[in-house]
Amino acid sequence: TVGCVALDKDGNLAAGTSTGGMTNKRWGRIGDAPIIGAGTYANNNTCAVSSTGWGEFFIRGLVAYDISALMDYKGLTLQEAAHEVIQKKNPALGGDGGIIAVDKYGNMVTEFNTTGMYRASMNEKGELTVGIYKDVEE
Ligand code: ASP
Repeated sequence: TVGCVALDKDGNLAAGTSTGGMTNKRWGRIGDAPIIGAGTYANNNTCAVSSTGWGEFFIRGLVAYDISALMDYKGLTLQEAAHEVIQKKNPALGGDGGIIAVDKYGNMVTEFNTTGMYRASMNEKGELTVGIYKDVEE
């Protein structure tokens, strides 16, 4: 998966997700990446989320939307909402994977329950501020 989330100077949030699917992908399988609310979601009132992982469980849990909804309707922070969904709700369904996300204030969050999720952040100048793999900073 290659995913991205962004907040522009006017407060617009956006998310995008591209994937080759699961290994040995079944013919006709779509996965969660193109399904808004499952693998990808953005709402200017809350956050932008892009997911990677076992797509069927991200669809079943509407993971990207659920993170936004927990912020919107329960008042959780992005970090709290991402933790709740990725560490508790998604594993309870049997899923694994993770998300990258940014909220409307520009707070960036990565949360995952699997090993090996490459991730990086850029500042407003487009400079790489952090690149991480398996929790080892590069
Ligand atoms: N989420 C993708 C899928 O289920 C797999 C991935 O993480 O690339 O198709």
